[in-house]
Amino acid sequence: MRVLVSGGGVAGLTCAYWLDQAGHTPVVVERGQAGPLGGYGIDFSGTGYDIAQRMGILGRLAERPLRSDSIAYVDASGRVVGRLDRPLAEKVLRGPYLALMHTTLEAVLADAVRDRVEVRHRQSIAEVEQDNGVLVTFADGTQEEFDVLVGADGVHSRTRELAFGAESQWARHLGLTMACYPVPDIAGLTDVRTHFAEPGRQTVLYPTDNVGTSIALFLYRDSAPHHVARAERAARLRTIYTGSRWHTPELLAHAPDDDLFMDTLTQIEMPRWHVGRVALIGDACGALTLASAQGASLAMAGGYLLAEALAKHLHDHAAAFAAYEARLRPVVTRRQRRTRSLARSLVPATHAGHEFQRAIARLILRENCASLLRRGFGNTSTILPTTPVR
Ligand SMILES: Cc1cc2nc3c(=O)[nH]c(=O)nc-3n(C[C@H](O)[C@H](O)[C@H](O)COP(=O)(O)OP(=O)(O)OC[C@H]3O[C@@H](n4cnc5c(N)ncnc54)[C@H](O)[C@@H]3O)c2cc1C
Repeated sequence: MRVLVSGGGVAGLTCAYWLDQAGHTPVVVERGQAGPLGGYGIDFSGTGYDIAQRMGILGRLAERPLRSDSIAYVDASGRVVGRLDRPLAEKVLRGPYLALMHTTLEAVLADAVRDRVEVRHRQSIAEVEQDNGVLVTFADGTQEEFDVLVGADGVHSRTRELAFGAESQWARHLGLTMACYPVPDIAGLTDVRTHFAEPGRQTVLYPTDNVGTSIALFLYRDSAPHHVARAERAARLRTIYTGSRWHTPELLAHAPDDDLFMDTLTQIEMPRWHVGRVALIGDACGALTLASAQGASLAMAGGYLLAEALAKHLHDHAAAFAAYEARLRPVVTRRQRRTRSLARSLVPATHAGHEFQRAIARLILRENCASLLRRGFGNTSTILPTTPVR
């Protein structure tokens, strides 16, 4: 089958890799330019970790870990009020994990398909017509026919919009907005991921895989979330964080005027993940948000399981799409529900809520609470078949 994959991110590249392994001919279109830009850190574990192992890329990923081995929660003076160390984190996650830049995962996946899969950068789809195939019109006006189209173009998916309709029908905002950007290492912070919380807002600072560079991440309550134009993002962040303490003012002073990643925490919930010859994977159909720390892992699961289904149902895309969705949807639905409940208490709105959160953190970030923590964050790879696709 000739398969067009829209989106060369985690889901799209994983899918393309396994489609190629199964003997299909994937073509990936990616609107961005070649090579990773900017980025943020991710915790990588569970199904995604296991798929990476099957792809033989774990070693490459492990070469560029984030330089953080623990998570600390601090007060305005920098005093640690709670800490999650790696041994406890591994107990909670029920297994090994890597802390990585998202761009590292994308770059290693891109290497895994290089020389085997055609990836067209700075290209995107403009129109889709379905018949006995999928006729795609690209942004540059060219047209091409494929057997199926896979939408792997993220939470604001263009494929989804073209094949299923407007995003507003499927988007559930969690009442939070995030922003992040790289900053120079400031104030001699060590290799610890550090969280500073105040009522309604949180500032996180963590080291990257690059000595001298950290990521500043901001997470705040937003009762009327909306798209903020790029040019207005830094100013908006400074307004939201007016009067904030700890290192926040210094971090805000480094906010770039033009390249600041800002987005609402939005889950995507759809009654179906496929229509005709078009199927969605990753954030496009099942975005969890960063609060789950599982989005990349399940995006890889989507890519893998769709390729597996298309390998099994070689001439029946409808059966393949149905099998893929039946396998993954319950896992995504469960994880989305859990994430929503977590997100409600992630950034308490009031001072009392904030104090309560601190007290709970002090109480449960301990070895003997690992099984309790596991209920919220645990992640086992139960959705993988026992033998790889090929
Ligand atoms: C700050 C932050 C922290 C996170 N932390 C974690 C974590 O700890 N653990 C975890 O597992 N997950 C985490 N996530 C979530 C994770 O990054 C996503 O769930 C995952 O990247 C989804 O993969 P995807 O391939 O579906 O979408 P994306 O990664 O969004 O990739 C989509 C790709 O499609 C391309 N694209 C978009 N539109 C078009 C178009 N019209 N045409 C062509 N190409 C297009 C984009 O350029 C991009 O390359 C985090 C996310 C954020 C923002």
